[in-house]
Amino acid sequence: MRVCVVGAGGREHALAVALGRTAEVVVTPGNPGIPGSTPKPPEEVDADLFVIGPEVPLVDGLADRLRAAGRLVFGPGADGARLEGSKVWMKKVLAGAGVPTAAHGVFDRVEPALAFLDSLPPPWVVKTDGLAAGKGVLVTSDRREAADDVRAKLSGQAFGDAGRRVVVEEGLDGPELSLLCLCDGRRAVPLAPAQDFKRLGDGGSGPNTGGMGAYSPVPAAMLGVRATQAGPEIIAEVVERAVEPTLHRLRALGIDFRGVLYAGIMLTPDGPKVLEFNVRFGDPETQVVLPRTEGDLAGLLAEAAAGALRTDPSFSPDAAVTVVLAAEGYPASPRTGDVIDGLEAAATRPGVSVYCAGVGRATDGRLTTAGGRVLNVTALGPDLDQARRRAYAGVVEISWPGMQYRRDIAASALEGAKA
Ligand code: AMP
Repeated sequence: MRVCVVGAGGREHALAVALGRTAEVVVTPGNPGIPGSTPKPPEEVDADLFVIGPEVPLVDGLADRLRAAGRLVFGPGADGARLEGSKVWMKKVLAGAGVPTAAHGVFDRVEPALAFLDSLPPPWVVKTDGLAAGKGVLVTSDRREAADDVRAKLSGQAFGDAGRRVVVEEGLDGPELSLLCLCDGRRAVPLAPAQDFKRLGDGGSGPNTGGMGAYSPVPAAMLGVRATQAGPEIIAEVVERAVEPTLHRLRALGIDFRGVLYAGIMLTPDGPKVLEFNVRFGDPETQVVLPRTEGDLAGLLAEAAAGALRTDPSFSPDAAVTVVLAAEGYPASPRTGDVIDGLEAAATRPGVSVYCAGVGRATDGRLTTAGGRVLNVTALGPDLDQARRRAYAGVVEISWPGMQYRRDIAASALEGAKA
């Protein structure tokens, strides 16, 4: 089978590697660090299966255009992708499906939004309706910051048109879980759970980012559950109470959702509640979930794309940890064009794979930084502790001026697992 992966980041590199176990893979547009990258647009690539990585082309209807040309596509059409493209619409679908989520209001004017803020206890949450590259959410207990954020978003100043409508919602509390499910329109099959790290700095300090690292599997203790065997029960509960009702509701709306439904869940004292739905593989969760899959991933995604997901995914017992290496100035204004040293040395470390996200190539052939999140250093190991050590052993091989990364990826999971 020949598979075309659409996208240009670390997620697409990880997809290409995992799909490449059983298929020939091309990546469009890819980047200079991803083998098999082609500048040809997806419409001009010849492949048996198209796997679309990022949300923007999905929301723009790329899957519809490819399907109209008779292609087999893993990824929802623009109708289903709206679940991620509009948080307001997502909330409507959840309400129709009876799926628990945070209480909220929708506003396009400042005064009613501020009045609603005042009706809720802190912390407050302000979200852009539209896509904001994972950065459109503010969670704060500072009333002034919340109000300033409402104004900045609604004025279009902070996120352009994506922010001209906002969702203001109650702050929820509890451990968070990302669950990616493969869907064939009717059936949702969960992949191994992962936990990601959204803040730039250690201990959850600093600004929100697209994601600074992740690990999988997630010890039950991290989910506020004592017995380790309770893990699968939580996943089953999330699938039954959040993912399946959403998929069925989409179907009732005439939407045949074939792709990834990725539920961002908070495990509150009142049960799991949905924070968001994404409609594609998470980045960087994919970089720890896919290396743990075994068998024919390309075949599995082809089944889902064809509307007949029969095979269940299987996972190795190994743990995976990924650490994102970001450019100086990320997330506000990353500096680009620095030469990356040590990439090959890192990749020869035991268990380590380096996925290229924001990289370019200098005229002398060397790889350079070309985006905010530059590399994902991922390691597999027999347990989280060893996967973590291996990942950081890879990280220290790599350098460029101003490189930044978190030192505490998966550290709390180890503490949690011991507790
Ligand atoms: P989202 O993009 O909606 O998942 O939001 C990004 C992050 O903001 C989540 O991973 C949570 O950590 C946080 N968040 C979102 N909604 C809420 C909420 N209602 N209460 C508390 N934290 C939230």
